[in-house]
Amino acid sequence: MDDISVPSTPSIFSVMTQLANQYGAVNLAQGFPDFPIDQKLLDAVSEAVQSESHQYAPYQGNLALRTAIKNLINQHNGLPISLEELLITAGATQAIFTTIQALVTAGDEVVLLDPCYDCYETPVLLVGAKPIHVELSLDFLPDWHAITAAINAKTKLLIINNPHNPSGRVWTSEDFSKLIDIVNNNPNLTILSDEVYEYLTYSRQHISVRAYDILRVRSVVVSSFGKTLQVTGWKIGYLSAPTNLMQRILRVHQYLVFSVNSVMQDAISKFLPLFNPSLFRTEYQERMMFFREGLSKSRFICLPCEGTYFQTVDYSQISTQNDVDFCKWLIKEHGVAAIPVSVFYESNKDFHYIRLCFAKDQKTLTKALERLCKI
Ligand code: PMP
Ligand code: GLN
Repeated sequence: MDDISVPSTPSIFSVMTQLANQYGAVNLAQGFPDFPIDQKLLDAVSEAVQSESHQYAPYQGNLALRTAIKNLINQHNGLPISLEELLITAGATQAIFTTIQALVTAGDEVVLLDPCYDCYETPVLLVGAKPIHVELSLDFLPDWHAITAAINAKTKLLIINNPHNPSGRVWTSEDFSKLIDIVNNNPNLTILSDEVYEYLTYSRQHISVRAYDILRVRSVVVSSFGKTLQVTGWKIGYLSAPTNLMQRILRVHQYLVFSVNSVMQDAISKFLPLFNPSLFRTEYQERMMFFREGLSKSRFICLPCEGTYFQTVDYSQISTQNDVDFCKWLIKEHGVAAIPVSVFYESNKDFHYIRLCFAKDQKTLTKALERLCKI
């Protein structure tokens, strides 16, 4: 493995969280909520702990949980999906790793859209395939010209992320028309669609690749209960895939984890029918509006936030430092932790943008805003 250039240092999320703890800064860096989880979810966990669900779950996942997910997808998106098309995973990260391991082989190419989340590239390198980084446009939407040009007969996978971390942009239906053209013109291509922020969109509705038949049969879609139920530490999520791809994914899943935490699967299966996507969205929309309103009184400039729980801001009115140094300075001198956007680029492109997480309670956001407005 030493000849493969995968990162050997802790991720930027760990680094900034560690610095935030060291300096007692408000941590708006790593994406996780800092408020209590739903009491009904806690009750479901207590019930599951007292039940008999302590031994191996079926390897594809607890049947009641897959049924609850099927109903959620059906009710929320009006989209049919079968139980065989669902797999419970140890978070979205394992779903992504497993999919790449199952579908990509040495010598293949995988197109990644920068800025992109950190867990896409390493599994590609580990199978001996070549990551091809294509940058999104300057407003963080897909540059279809560049994507089309990057795809060739060797391209096995195109990894997309919508709603997008770190920018918070959300794709339009025109984007999906372009994606359909690409899929039609490239019969060997599969889409890996990271939709972990699927329920967090504000100014426009989230469209899943599952909404289009032509894309659904060619895509693996990844979701995370860490985001949807606000329990990032539980590391549980799921993927959906058409059965031909699922068969290949299961071959890896079976030997990577076999099956996922049985108690949490049981608990989530009990709670999921109570999950209310529109209430969830409204709560986050309020947090987002409160945070943006506060930032409007600072020298940071907010970029559009259409989805996710991240707000990207431009700090160029404040400093000419590079964004990594700026984040360290922000922690040490002003007590607020953020994530530099350049780390999401292979080229480390630096626009003097940082990402702030607003999945925090009002007290935390108020404290952070007081500090940010003084700069
Ligand atoms: N994809 C994106 C875009 C993410 O932001 C994250 C983490 N927050 C993940 C995947 C990983 O999710 P999980 O914690 O469920 O592995
Ligand atoms: N997904 C989280 C974020 O973007 C980080 C998860 C992690 O720490 N690896 O902030």
